[in-house]
Formats: sequence, structure tokens, C-alpha cells
Amino acid sequence: MSKTWVYSFSDGNGKDKKLLGGKGANLCELTQTGIRVPPGFVITTEACLAYLEDEKHRLPPSLMSQVTDHLRLLELNTGKKFGDALKPLLLSVRSGSALSMPGMMDTILNLGLNPDTLKGLLVATDNERFCYDVYRRFIQLFGKVALGVPDALFDEEFEKVKERAGVKQDVELSAWDLSDVCTSFLQVVKQFTGKPFPHDPYEQLEIAIKAVFNSWMGKRAIDYRREFKITPDMANGTAVNIVAMVFGNMSNKSATGVGFTRDPGTGENVIFGEYLVNAQGEDVVAGIRTPKPIAAMAHEMPDLFRELMELRNKLESHFKEVQDFEFTIEEGILYCLQTRNGKMNATAMVRTSVEMAEEGLITKEQALLRIKPETLEQLLFPRLNISDDVAPIASGLPASPGGASGIAVFDADRAEKMGREGLKVILVREETKPEDIHGFFASQGILTSRGGKTSHAAVVARGMGKPCVAGAEGIHVDVRLRHALIGKYQITEGDVITIDGSTGAVYLGEVPLIDAEFSSDLATLLSWADAVARLKVMANADIPSDAKRALKFGAMGIGLCRTERMFNDPSRLPIVIDMIIADTKEDRQKALDRLLPIQREDFKNLFTIMAPCPVTIRLLDPPIHEFLPQEQHLIDEIDILRNLRKNLRGMKVLSENVAFMFQHDDVHPIVQTPADPELLDAVILKKETMLNKVRSLHEVNPMLGHRGVRLGLTFPEIYSMQIRAILEAAAECLKNGVDVHPEIMIPQVCTAQELKRVKEWVTDIHKDVESAYRLTINCSFGSMLEVVRACMRAENLAEEAEFFSFGTNDLTQATFSFSREDAENKFLPMYNMNHILQDNPFEVLDVKGVGKLMELAVLWGRATRPGMKVGICGEHGGHPSSIEFCHQIGLTYVSCSGPRVPIARLAAAHAAIHAR
Ligand code: PEP
Ligand code: MG
Repeated sequence: MSKTWVYSFSDGNGKDKKLLGGKGANLCELTQTGIRVPPGFVITTEACLAYLEDEKHRLPPSLMSQVTDHLRLLELNTGKKFGDALKPLLLSVRSGSALSMPGMMDTILNLGLNPDTLKGLLVATDNERFCYDVYRRFIQLFGKVALGVPDALFDEEFEKVKERAGVKQDVELSAWDLSDVCTSFLQVVKQFTGKPFPHDPYEQLEIAIKAVFNSWMGKRAIDYRREFKITPDMANGTAVNIVAMVFGNMSNKSATGVGFTRDPGTGENVIFGEYLVNAQGEDVVAGIRTPKPIAAMAHEMPDLFRELMELRNKLESHFKEVQDFEFTIEEGILYCLQTRNGKMNATAMVRTSVEMAEEGLITKEQALLRIKPETLEQLLFPRLNISDDVAPIASGLPASPGGASGIAVFDADRAEKMGREGLKVILVREETKPEDIHGFFASQGILTSRGGKTSHAAVVARGMGKPCVAGAEGIHVDVRLRHALIGKYQITEGDVITIDGSTGAVYLGEVPLIDAEFSSDLATLLSWADAVARLKVMANADIPSDAKRALKFGAMGIGLCRTERMFNDPSRLPIVIDMIIADTKEDRQKALDRLLPIQREDFKNLFTIMAPCPVTIRLLDPPIHEFLPQEQHLIDEIDILRNLRKNLRGMKVLSENVAFMFQHDDVHPIVQTPADPELLDAVILKKETMLNKVRSLHEVNPMLGHRGVRLGLTFPEIYSMQIRAILEAAAECLKNGVDVHPEIMIPQVCTAQELKRVKEWVTDIHKDVESAYRLTINCSFGSMLEVVRACMRAENLAEEAEFFSFGTNDLTQATFSFSREDAENKFLPMYNMNHILQDNPFEVLDVKGVGKLMELAVLWGRATRPGMKVGICGEHGGHPSSIEFCHQIGLTYVSCSGPRVPIARLAAAHAAIHAR
């Protein structure tokens, strides 16, 4: 028995998307659920792979005979015959892989037409205009997809006929005009390919199947898979769906449209979509005519609208997910042509998740799992801050929410190029096509002058979460001249514009943006997430504004406060510099005494904002020369100051001489010296001291040098000041009734001895502060694990440390011996591109190496101190798959930057659910 390459919609397994592709599987599912779908069958993705793997690109031997068998069934089912001159069966040949890749692969409609079958269609429908319309569409689509004829050649001919006929819209063309179009199109194909258009329907079908298979390896599809990280595991090859054609362009009783069961821009529970009377599917998506909103159908075709609403309800209750579906009405009969899970922006995903769970359509867990944590990033997108005096210069449809500014660029290639150069770009097009996808990736937002909310531009932008204004009809784009005319304005490539995808407005110049607000739906969803997650989510925050934002995002404490960031404030830097260049312990202590109250205030602020949550404060980590100016900078400054000193001395000599010479005259001219040379000498001396210090502190490899606890042990007074500031701040908060939980964390530890020494200072100062303030302060003492040896010695370190926090930025650097400063813009991209490393280990936790060390350290640490609190505070703490790993190895918490907190909360919930 030969392998089964083909399944009919009534037999295929609707759950097997890998084999049948998403579209094919869903068509099987719909057919078997009793929803009206045009009959058809699906060729498997396995057939596609077999074809692509064959050196000579031959179809698997038994494939076409299986296709023919299924065609016979289709003929029985429809009462029409493929290739028949009397009652011809026409087919649509549509791609569809396991994951939806909208518009990335090819589809051919109306297949089976030739001069003979056209006659049959004329007899069967008695509608000449319709028949020629279908024929010209077929020649163009087949010509483009299967024979590689550029669209532009067809468009030129089409425009010529429209001009001759004196019409603007294609619906205004008569049957004769369209027949002329067909003749010209056949000629275009012949001229371009050097061969006549293939008239044999079976030959057409075979070519079309191969073309769809080939589109899996087309540039668009490959780019898309790379961008969205679609691996062969997730989708491999495309299926081909062969479906009996139904016609939305038969008459004014026919229509075609696309719908979403809920609004994909806002998530609101209302049907959303567009339709066109007397049109075929691609007209809606391609934006050739501007379609009507689906609500208009309630008046125009009330019975069918009711049927459409029934279809919508059935789709949602069957798939338990918002559906993006296509439909066609052929002479009053409604068919569902396809359905798939709707791609929505994050706002809509969150709202639909909450509402569907509350409606009982899905469980809370399903509500959480249907949102990829990283998509929440979109909710942090800024909105436009529009002042009253700013008026839009054009408006279109609000197709994908959010605001964006950038320079106008009129074609995708240039958008890609300029985006790569680091420019912010808005892609402005008449309409977009799937081949523009690389331009989307490079742009901040998309603006089109044609098409509706379901046009290609709108759908793709929404999926990517990029702002899009579509169908701004007042804009006339001239790609060749690289400009657009908007009323009295001319926008040339490079001019800055702003678009508001939430309102559809277009502005000249840059409009300021404001941060997004947390919606109550998101708050609800994340509260469900917190209820199932085991990992706590903390924030990395150093200053009060960061802490407040982190709290707003739901942080359960601060997992890392990098105290050096507090030192960098311009008002403090001079004191910090005094501390560094001090030659004696006493001088250093003087500077530290000035820093102590400042740090104490910092900590008091943080504790108060975060109360009663824990705040983990890390003592100074970077090498101290980082607070001093660069050597060359100092040399240049000293040079300038020395020159100035000479001049000042000259001025002083001049001033003294003038005073001497004119002492007996009536007039006493005075020469003012601009500054006191003595003062200058003091400045130069200070700069020279700094220069000497910079030179003495210089290290060949500072990241592996005198930093962290090593620095703390060399200058005990620095750490002592910080420890005192933390404990005194805690004491003052407690006195004010603020519930504080400070944690002192030591960086760069590699041996228990280091911890032991610092812990002695902490113990002494703790006692001191407690007796001074006469109260008890709960403060825990912990260690970062960011050095390989620290992981290996976790068992010993845990004797001193009450908690551990993995600093995976340094731990990754140390494990790979890759400099974290340099690797990412030197060799890492090449490593990733050539699959030497799958991911950037500074972004995605290297589970196999760094993760192994972490797993062991958790095990060993808890062997000494059962139940020990262990967290992570490197960048990986906000990365979803890394968070999943942190859950698996039993960490207590993850800590990440404030805006990533919502992502981490959802990822923590996913991890807990997946682990069940
Ligand atoms: C780390 O190394 O992961 C860490 C959090 O510390 P930093 O990035 O400040 O070195
Ligand atoms: Mg570190």
C-alpha cells in the first residue's frame, strides 16, 4: 500500500495540524462539525517535504493518482466535473502550514479554467461578466504564482483597459472589457514565459501544487520563519488544500468577507470584519476596493447577517478561541472558507482571555496559557501625547494601536536598509503585499493609503504589535519620486511623521509619546497568574521612580538594588571622587561621612516605597576607577589648565606692572585677572592626583579584577558605610512605623572566607545600630552567585549566606569566558547565524552550561541550609524560557527590570502550569 498523501475534509484528523497544516486541519474539523464548508481535500505536509527533498523536485509517485481519486469524489459531491466544457468544477489551491503565516505562501483560485471550461461556466451561470472576471483573475494569479510573471505586467494591461473604458473601479468594467483583459493577460504570459498559458486543467493542477510546495522555501516564508523563530519542530512544509470554488463575485447577491469573532484591536466581544459585495476573497485582503464594515451587512443582507452571527458563535464555542475566518456568500448561501485562531495585539489578547474565562468559555489556566508572556511587552508601548495645537494632516483607519514616529520611507527595501542603519522608519505605502514583510520588521509603524482593517498591512502589523494606520485615502504615494502628497503637504523620504494606530490620525513631525497604563484586565489576568505561580517576581530597581514603576507592574519586592547607580548622581560624584582619591584612611572616612546620610536617605526612600516587601541591596560592585574620568580626558584637561596657568600668571604680572607704572598718575588703570592663579593651582593639583589614581587603579581586565567583595575587603570603610546606611535607614523606617525587610547582598563572592569577613562587620554594625535606636531590625545576609567557584562551593557559602541570588550576567561571562562587554557585537551574531550557538547566552539562559551550575548550586546550598531562599537577578530573570528553567530547578524568586515584571509574572504562572 502506498503512503496516504491526501485526506478528504470529511476524513482528515482535525487535530493533526502538523500533517494537514492549520488550514487543512481546521477545514476537516469544520466539515466534521457540520459547518458549511465548500467540499475539498488536503495534501499533507509530508508530501511537500518529500517533493522538496527530491533532487529533481518530482512529486511523490502516487500523489497525483490519489489527487485524481479525490477529485472524482469532489465531482460526485458537487455535481460538476473538472475540465468539463458543460458544467466545469473550478478549484482553489491553497497553502497552509502547521502555524499560520498569513500571506507568506501562495494560493491560486479559479483553477481549471480554459477557453472550453469558460464556455461551460458561461452556460452554467448565464453571467458573462462574472465568467470573464473569474478568468482574468485566474490567469493573473496562476501567471504570478505558478509561472513567475510579475504582477506589474498584468496591472499595466488592466489599467489600460480601465482607461479605455473610462472607469475607475474594476466593478465598473463590462463583460467585454474583461474579455479584453483576459486576452491581454494570456498574451502577457506568453510573452514573459515564451510559452502559451497551460490550458490542460490537470497540468494546471500539478503546476499549482508544485508552486504551493515551492512557496514554503520562498524568501518571504523563510524571512517570516526566521523572524518569528518558527523551527521545523513547530511547522515543517506546507499542506495544499484543494477546494471546490464558491463565488462571491457572481452577482449582487454574492459577497465575500473576513471576520474576527471579537475585535482584534481591543478584544471587545463584538464581531469585527469587512466584506465586499460581488467580489472575490483577495479583493478584501489586497485593499483594491475599500470594504464595508460587517455591521453594515445587518441592513444590506439581514438574513445572511443572522447566519453569519450563528457561524461566529459556533466557531468560538467549538474552537474555544477567538477565530479569524473567511467567508463567501454565493447567491445567498453562506460558506465558511477557513478559520484559524485570531492574531491579536496584546491588549485584545488580555481582554479576550479575561472575558472568555469569565464567560466560562475557557478556564483561568487556559486564559493564562493562551498569552505568550513576551507579547505583554506591547502593553508597555507608548501612546501619543497630543497637545491641542497639533492637528493631523490626514486620517485613515485605526488598524493597529499605538503611536510611532519616524522618517517616511516609501518602499520596503529602503525601509529595511534605513532601519538597519539605526533610523526610525515609518513605512508608507499605497497598500502592502506579503513581499514587503522585511520592511515591516524594520519599521516603527506602517501607513497605507488603501485597504481596510483587514488588509495585509493591518493584519501583519497587528500580529507584530506595530502601530498601523490603513486606508488613509487622502495620501498619494509616488514610490518612484519617493514622496507622498497629503493635501497641501508634500512628504519626502526622510521627513519625520507620526502615526496614531489607535485613532487613525497622521501628523507631520514628531509627536511626543507617553507610557502605557496598566489596564484593569491585565491586573485581573496577572492576579490569576500570581495565584498559580510558585516563583515570586521581584524587580531590579535602584532609584525611587524605578521602584514605584516596578510596584505598579506588580513587583513583590526589590531583588537587586545596585548601589553604585546611586553613586553616579552628579551631585554625589564629587564626594565619591574625594573618597576614591583620598590618600589616607582618615581622608577617605571624611568623604564617607558625607556620603552616609545621602545613602541612608536613599535606602529610607526605597524601604518606604516598597514596604512591607523585601528590598535586597547589593554593596558596591564595580571597580572604583569607573567613577573617575578617563585617563586621556584628564591629561587633556590638565594640559589646558597648565596653559591657562601661564596666561593667568602673565595677567598677574601685567596687573602688578600697570599698578606700579601708573601709581602717581591721576588715572589708575586697573587690569583685572579673571581668576586667582592659586585656585587654579589647587584644581590642577586635584586633577593630577586623580590622574595618578586613575593610573594606579588601571587594570588590564577590570571585569575580572578589583571589584565587588574584593574591593570591599580592600577598603572596609566603604562597605561599612553602606551597611550602616542600610541599617540606620531600616531603623528610622521602623521608628516611623514602616515595616521594612532589608537584605544585604555581597557581589562577586568566590569563597566563604570573603563572606565571613563582611558578615562580621554586618553583625557588629547591626548590634551598634540596634542599641543606638533601641529596636530590633530584621535583616538578612546573602551572597550573589556569579562566579563559577561560588557555585562549586555553594555548600560552604550557605554556612554564611542566608540567601543566594544568581547573577547570571557575570555567571554567563564566567562560564563561557566571553566578555559580556564585547561578545554581543563581535562574534556572537556570527555564532548564532551559523548555529554554533542557538541563542545569545546573555539573553537566553544557557540551561546546559550555566543552568547546570545553577542546579548544582541550589542543591548544594540547600544541603547546608534546607529551604534556603535562592533567586536570580541577572537579565535572564525577565526572560520567559529562562524563568521556566528557574522554576524547574526550584528557585524561590526571579528578579528583573520593572517593565519586564508583568512578563515574568505570566511566565512564572506558565512554568507552574507546565510543570503539573
Ligand atoms: C549579574 O552579574 O547577573 C548581575 C545582576 O550583576 P551586574 O549585572 O550588575 O554585574
Ligand atoms: Mg554581576
